[in-house]
Amino acid sequence: MAWSDKVKNEVLVKCGRHCCICHKFCGIKIELHHIIHKSEGGKENVENCIPLCFDCHADQRSYDHNHPKGTKYSREELKRHREKWYKMVGQNLGTGNIDHLEQDIATFKVIFETIPTNSIAHLREWDFGRRWFSMIPIRPLQLLNLKIKNEPWIEFFDSDLESLKLNLIDLITDFEARMVKDTFYYRDGNPDSHCIPREWSEPHSGNYQPERYENAVKFFNDKADEISEAYVDFVILSRRKLGVII
Ligand SMILES: [Zn+2]
Repeated sequence: MAWSDKVKNEVLVKCGRHCCICHKFCGIKIELHHIIHKSEGGKENVENCIPLCFDCHADQRSYDHNHPKGTKYSREELKRHREKWYKMVGQNLGTGNIDHLEQDIATFKVIFETIPTNSIAHLREWDFGRRWFSMIPIRPLQLLNLKIKNEPWIEFFDSDLESLKLNLIDLITDFEARMVKDTFYYRDGNPDSHCIPREWSEPHSGNYQPERYENAVKFFNDKADEISEAYVDFVILSRRKLGVII
C-alpha cells in the first residue's frame, strides 16, 4: 500500500510543497512520512501524513531507539508542526492579514538592517583565488546568521518569504561550515580576516596541497554567488509582497 493520489494531492497543496518541519521549499524533492508507522497500525490518510524534505525525513527514519542521539520528535510534536505550517500556507492564499503583514515588514527590516547590501555586493565581487591571502569577509555573514538563528520570532507569516529566508540561512551555514575546515585566521590583528592558506598553492612551501586549494577557492566563489543571488531574490520578493521601500 502507498499513499493514494487523493491523500497526496491534498497534503501537497496544504503544505505548498514545503517541508513541515524546516519549511524549506522542496518542489519534487518532498516525501510523505507516516506519523504512526505502518507496522504500528498507522493508516495512509491525511491525518497520519506529514510532508517532509529529504533531510528531515531521514532524521525521522534514522532515529535509533537503542542508541538514541539527540531528541526524537514525538507524534504530537510532528502534528503540531504540520498544523502550524498548513495554517501559514493557507493564510497566504487569502487576501492577507494586516497584522501579519505588519509583522512581516518588521521581520524583514530586522534582517535587512542586520546585513547591509554593500556587504553582500562585496561578497559577490570578491575573488577568493586572486587575492594574495584569499581573505574572506566573514563578519556580515556571522551577524546575519546569529541574529536570525537566536531570535525565534524572526519568522515570516508569509511562507514564500520564510522559505527564501531559510534558503539564505542554509547557504550561509554551508559557507561557515567550510570556513571552519578550509580557512584560518589571518594574523593581521583584524578578527574579521580569514584566508585560504596561500601556501597550499605554492609548490615549495612545504605544505603544497594544490587540489585542496583549488577546491576551496571554487567552493567559496560559487557559494558567495549563491548567497548573493539568494539575498537578491529575498529582497525582491519582500519588496513585492510587503511593499517595503528600501
Ligand atoms: Zn525539512
